Amino acid sequence: MTDNLATATDVNLAHNYHPLPVTISSGEGAWVTDVEGKRYLDLLSAYSALNFGHGHPEILAAAHAQLDRLTLTSRAFNNDVLGPFATALAALCGKDMVLPMNTGAEAVESGIKLARAWGYRVKGVPADAAQIIVANGNFHGRTTTIVSFSDDDTARNGFGPFTPGFVNVPYGDAGAIEAAITPNTVAVLIEPIQGEAGVIIPPAGYLTAVREATARNNVLFIADEIQSGLARVGTTFACDRENVVPDLYLLGKALGGGVMPVSAVVANSDILGVIQPGEHGSTFGGNPLAAAVGHRVVQMLATGEFQERAAQLGAHLEQILQPLVGHGVTEIRVAGLWAGIDIDPALGTGRQIAEKLMARGVLVKDTHGQTIRMAPPIVVRATELDWAVEQLRLVLAV
Ligand SMILES: *Cc1c(COP(=O)(O)O)cnc(C)c1O
Repeated sequence: MTDNLATATDVNLAHNYHPLPVTISSGEGAWVTDVEGKRYLDLLSAYSALNFGHGHPEILAAAHAQLDRLTLTSRAFNNDVLGPFATALAALCGKDMVLPMNTGAEAVESGIKLARAWGYRVKGVPADAAQIIVANGNFHGRTTTIVSFSDDDTARNGFGPFTPGFVNVPYGDAGAIEAAITPNTVAVLIEPIQGEAGVIIPPAGYLTAVREATARNNVLFIADEIQSGLARVGTTFACDRENVVPDLYLLGKALGGGVMPVSAVVANSDILGVIQPGEHGSTFGGNPLAAAVGHRVVQMLATGEFQERAAQLGAHLEQILQPLVGHGVTEIRVAGLWAGIDIDPALGTGRQIAEKLMARGVLVKDTHGQTIRMAPPIVVRATELDWAVEQLRLVLAV
């Protein structure tokens, strides 16, 4: 059985994950195949890292071509792929400077360091006094500094002492942010839609109000678009839903095209330019292979085709999920092709529902007990979503 094979591959792995008992060996588009040849529709997309699906031919072609030419230089030397990637990514973001890193957590860490350095060098905050305002329910990664401002006990317990300098306020309340701003506040760091928390969509006007409050108080607005960005919600960024432009975009996940970790901080040079040679870096950040993949991703996003498709499929997904509310589902939250679905506790936990869906060939992930999250690859077909939601309806009807 799949279970035994999964266990066999697991014996030497640290227990920091509790995966569904499926062992995947290949993938194409929205579909994956396990070691026994059973096919599943992947409605998680590696938490939005696979926005373009498994093995997108254009991304694979870019990776293959670069793989044979040059893969790593370190930033001790220039390479001929990174500059063009940075130019394209800056243009996509409407900014003029890009700091390339690898993982999302590194982009967040970089954003924090940058905001602090800007605070001391430009805003004039006294040394070591900088404060960053964050939201309750946030998920920004797993490093010691990042879990320092998480309010999720599972993420924090046992990992102190924590990094100071963060102030938590309720998510979705711009008034609470403005009230928390002091002369030492250098930045507000939020997810425009909270992903890991269960696709929590803030009230309309929140992002606009955060933009206004930060601008009024000479505080940077840092948008963590690592999961919400790059076409997922039907626009390039979730901030675009309110036509809001933050000072810093934090990008990751889909920027790597489902091939490798590629992340970045994108901002204007009056902010990003405060970092000087030697002050920050990464051996692999901006490597030629990552730059080739990331550049192709940016080119694919520049046409707007994926944003449009996510918007259309997302409207469809919302339409077919809606009838489940009151029938095993207590609430749905949909933004573009991204859905948080709260399962009626009487029918089981999110995990139990995810396991039953898996048995029917649909892969999703539970979060925070009762919620299942759907983030289908944007290449998925409407008829495949119909089929998957029908499987959910059958699971909930049992
Ligand atoms: C996944 C995620 C991160 C962390 O990215 P990693 O690549 O896992 O380090 C940070 N912020 C948000 C909003 C995320 O969803």
